[in-house]
Amino acid sequence: MKKLTDSVQYLNGVGPQRIKLFQHLGISNIYDLLFHLPRKYLDRSQIKKIREAVNNAISNEEITVRGKITAISYYRTKYLKNIFEIVLSDETGHLSATWFNQPYLRNIFSKGQTVILSGKMKFYKHLQLSSPEYEIIPEKNIDNFSPLHTQGIIPCYSLTEGLTQKFMRRIIKNCLPLYLHLVNELTQHLYGIQNTPNSELITSNSLSQALGQIHFPDSQEIIEKARQYLVYDELFLFQLALELRHYQIKKTSVKHRLKISPQLDERIRKRIPFQLTRAQEKVINEIRSDLLADYPMNRLLQGDVGSGKTIVAVYAILTAIGNGLQAALMAPTEILAEQHFRTISKLLEGSQVRILFLTSGLKTKERRMTREILNRGAVDLVIGTHALIQQDVVFKKLGLLIIDEQHKFGVMQRADLRSKGENPHVLIMTATPIPRTLALTAFGDMDISTIDELPPGRMPVRTILRPSTKMSSAFDFIRHKIKEGRQVYFVYPLIEDSPETTQTQQQLYRTNLKSATTMAKYLKEKIFPECNVAVLHGAMVDKKKEKIMQDFRNGKINILVSTVVIEVGIDVSNASVMVIEHAERYGLAQLHQLRGRIGRGAHQSYCLLFGDFTTPEAEQRLKIMEETNDGFRIAEEDLRIRGPGEFLGIKQSGLPEFKIANLAIDFNILKLARTDAQKAINNNRFLNKKLLHRISLHFRNLITSS
Ligand code: ADP
Ligand code: MG
Repeated sequence: MKKLTDSVQYLNGVGPQRIKLFQHLGISNIYDLLFHLPRKYLDRSQIKKIREAVNNAISNEEITVRGKITAISYYRTKYLKNIFEIVLSDETGHLSATWFNQPYLRNIFSKGQTVILSGKMKFYKHLQLSSPEYEIIPEKNIDNFSPLHTQGIIPCYSLTEGLTQKFMRRIIKNCLPLYLHLVNELTQHLYGIQNTPNSELITSNSLSQALGQIHFPDSQEIIEKARQYLVYDELFLFQLALELRHYQIKKTSVKHRLKISPQLDERIRKRIPFQLTRAQEKVINEIRSDLLADYPMNRLLQGDVGSGKTIVAVYAILTAIGNGLQAALMAPTEILAEQHFRTISKLLEGSQVRILFLTSGLKTKERRMTREILNRGAVDLVIGTHALIQQDVVFKKLGLLIIDEQHKFGVMQRADLRSKGENPHVLIMTATPIPRTLALTAFGDMDISTIDELPPGRMPVRTILRPSTKMSSAFDFIRHKIKEGRQVYFVYPLIEDSPETTQTQQQLYRTNLKSATTMAKYLKEKIFPECNVAVLHGAMVDKKKEKIMQDFRNGKINILVSTVVIEVGIDVSNASVMVIEHAERYGLAQLHQLRGRIGRGAHQSYCLLFGDFTTPEAEQRLKIMEETNDGFRIAEEDLRIRGPGEFLGIKQSGLPEFKIANLAIDFNILKLARTDAQKAINNNRFLNKKLLHRISLHFRNLITSS
């Protein structure tokens, strides 16, 4: 019995060699092949009469003609070694077609054959078709022959070396009648007997029809209709997968139910040194109701830099600890983890909370000890980097896991997190505002809270964009600010100038990019000799980094020259100027993150962006940084310009590779699919094996064990 999971080797013409080539294209079974959709089409729907083609020929124009071969020759010229030429005739005239250096054609063509040729008209000695694609019509079915390569709207597929368009078209064409009918079984339970999604948007009748049409369309209009069906189908499926995960998490139960008594709430609030903003209160409430439920929290907390996410995290942490459970807080870098450790230790001074700081550079013995302490439950809160969950740490009673500054955590990784401990509550915090489109997709399986307000008294950062040539004009201003007691960041894309370093950045742009190390030296020696200038970058050992951060925090350093390691979280409120050179190298969201390092204190802060702009658009893109401090607007713009993969960090975006949908243009369908999927799950439809099977066919690895 035929199955969609059959290997492509079941198809005629696919042997071991070709299987490997298919694998390069991500195709292993029939389903993959059916969903290997054309990346473009050639419109060869008009067959021209030969006389018309010859008389009205425009050089380089693509034409398609059909006729009988009336002459064949094979010869050598002085310049081009072997030429194979045929003369094609119909009732209106003759046209020659030539191919170079393809002697085997002698065995393919013979006089009297009917052929269709499709290719470009060129003028060499005379007007001719140059290396056209050809299709020989078998004598037997001249009248009902349906051409695959030369007549009609012809699909072109992405290929890999060793596979040709002709081969691909033939394989897919042969595959369709054998397997296409099986496809409808995949959707009948999704779309009902009609097999059509309940929407005006979708006009194809069924998945099999849409697939058939998208491979070999009868008209241009049909392509678009088929595409809409397939996009909807794909996004619906994806949203179902996310909803399903969401639903499944809500169906599991936490091992230890939490309670929040008024006394506990009061005790926690006593620790908070300021009045919470309305937005913080709202978010704390959302988190509270999660924590009180008997299923694990699965929440994304987004809030612009400086919006005060940490204290929200602390509320959740103390709730867990107040219930006798352990909590873990993870940050993406040592510096950040260290900072959290310091802030939180200070907040909890004099309390009984036992905090452990876990770094990644532990020796085997220390690691064993740490593990033992956690396992024994001798500590309430661990703060550390991601190493914390990567190492084989086992908690005694982990109730809450918080991940800070992390938007690059994909759907897949999030599932793994849950395996730590006994279904802990999970809160992910990010300062990268996630545009709605993406939030719906990449984080569609989570609940989302947003802090949309900054604590009072913040002055918005003033941002100024200038060409790099104007950089020196900023020095006096900076000197003045330092005299006033402020501190300054300089940010560079490279650590060092040396082209030998293995920095991938360096390989990417082998241009005259300035580096943090060189510029620190230059600024110290040539521009600000009276100041303390230090360098900070990711390749330094942690001890050194920490020492420098400490000196900067204590005001011993006036100017910190750095790479983007300062991007996330660092909190030095006296720093009020940031200079970013090569600003054109960064994404908008990243610039916004960097800028968030200043404007944290009572002083007016300034972000000076210097860039080289090769086009007006490049400059226009950065203008938005001058116009707004609204992270959401910047994120929307960034997403629009760079697309979801880049925006979230390539590969780590957690988005599966869509075979058809393009989130930049298919947002409306996405919204539709999302609503439909939510309804479906709420009505308890489709929660069956068939759906899981389809999801695993379509998105590899999307559904993990859960
Ligand atoms: P982020 O959301 O970027 O992690 P933080 O939690 O680090 O922001 O908070 C930024 C700064 O604002 C910290 O110094 C914090 O103490 C302070 N802060 C947070 N909430 C408030 C508030 N409601 N009122 C005053 N200051 C606050
Ligand atoms: Mg933070």
